[in-house]
Amino acid sequence: MKKIFPLILCILIVFSCGELVPNPDDNPENMKRADKSTSVRIDRLNRTDTPEFAIIIHGGAGTILKKNMTPEKEAAYKAKLEEAIRVGYEILKNGGSSLDAVTKTINVMEDSPLFNAGKGAVFTNAETNELDASIMDGKTLNAGASAGTTIVKNPIDLARAVMEKSKHVMLSGKGAETFAEKQGLTLVDPSYFHTDKRLESLKRVKEREAKAAGKVDTESAYLDFYDADIKNAKFGTVGCAALDKNGNLAAGTSTGGMTNKRYGRVGDAPIIGSGTYANNASCAVSSTGWGEYFIRAQVAHDISALMEYKNISLKDAARQVLNKVKALGGDGGIVAVDKDGNMVADFNTAGMYRATMNDKGELSIGIYEQ
Ligand code: ASP
Repeated sequence: MKKIFPLILCILIVFSCGELVPNPDDNPENMKRADKSTSVRIDRLNRTDTPEFAIIIHGGAGTILKKNMTPEKEAAYKAKLEEAIRVGYEILKNGGSSLDAVTKTINVMEDSPLFNAGKGAVFTNAETNELDASIMDGKTLNAGASAGTTIVKNPIDLARAVMEKSKHVMLSGKGAETFAEKQGLTLVDPSYFHTDKRLESLKRVKEREAKAAGKVDTESAYLDFYDADIKNAKFGTVGCAALDKNGNLAAGTSTGGMTNKRYGRVGDAPIIGSGTYANNASCAVSSTGWGEYFIRAQVAHDISALMEYKNISLKDAARQVLNKVKALGGDGGIVAVDKDGNMVADFNTAGMYRATMNDKGELSIGIYEQ
């Protein structure tokens, strides 16, 4: 006993020292420092127990500054984010699927002209509205997407129909619209998507493009987004990630793309692995940002893969991948929920419209950095 007592003492000391070593992730000061060096912000609900379900949404990231926002506009965005997330929350609370929660929550934002998705979609260079969307089921890894549609009222419904009612993963343009019609989805005249505000944004971007003609490669430089409401640039895509009571994850994303896009340009939103990814083994992610960079960085899948293969937290995985986007020259953000119900909203822009709700019914809404 005399011999093993010092040994036990040593083991106890080693273990208690281990606990005293601060985990940088648990220390708010360290967090702030890390944020400054990477200019990426994190929001999450800290829980020690495992939530039964969780839902998180975004309505786009960008140069969203309080000084440029009127109290009325801010209230309108917050009210719509709350209305949308409560729809998904009720579905999850009543034992519904994460896929239903994601679809119905996104429908609310698609039907609002506040966001660049469905009604309120941005204009292409040719003054049309071409919409993209995708959805993924984390349980089966089944996925559906649509690109470049002009008459489908709710593109996320089309993405879901592609996933559930076709043998394909992605349909585009006229073919996607024919499929939507056959599925009985609501079709609208293309003028349904026209909003004066978005047309004004296109005109401003085109004016800037004309001024820069001959000085820069305008065709690539002026794929842009200008939002008169916030007097600045933003990406207004909408997205949702959810965990249901059965432990199933799902994510979806819907967008009008980027103002002044040309030649049938398709962004990251309908690309499985870039704009959307869900896997019950790791997390569900929806992205918003400069699509070209989000495709190249394979943002949504990369976050999931880092968690699965490297066993790192959702928060750290999101940070790493957004840093990669930034290093490439892109910006934007993500919302995600992991298989344990931890939610992360992370972005490398000045703001991102976002909201979370947990199984306790606690609602958190954010727009700016804090
Ligand atoms: N990611 C979208 C795109 O590039 C834009 C956005 O997030 O608003 O099409």
